[in-house]
Amino acid sequence: MKKIPAYFLLIITACNQPEQKQEPVMPPMAVKTDSAKTKLKNLAFDSKTDLVCGMPVKAGVEDTAHYKGKVYGFCAKECKEEFLKDPQQYLTAK
Ligand SMILES: [Zn+2]
Repeated sequence: MKKIPAYFLLIITACNQPEQKQEPVMPPMAVKTDSAKTKLKNLAFDSKTDLVCGMPVKAGVEDTAHYKGKVYGFCAKECKEEFLKDPQQYLTAK
């Protein structure tokens, strides 16, 4: 085995330190995102599916829309906006 020069070891040590400092910052942010998604999942929706694309709301809701006192869940903002353009079309389509 070749001897590793001391200055090379110093560079490795110096590079590793900033990464270690960043680690504690990341997990709390991830936890916040998870709890927000769980809250959306536990909401009671008046529709069992995303009325635009037909995906079950249980699979994960990213956005919600209120229409005539009812709450509808959508997998994406795009689906909600599509629904709000003409809600009656999607509600009577079934
Ligand atoms: Zn959708």
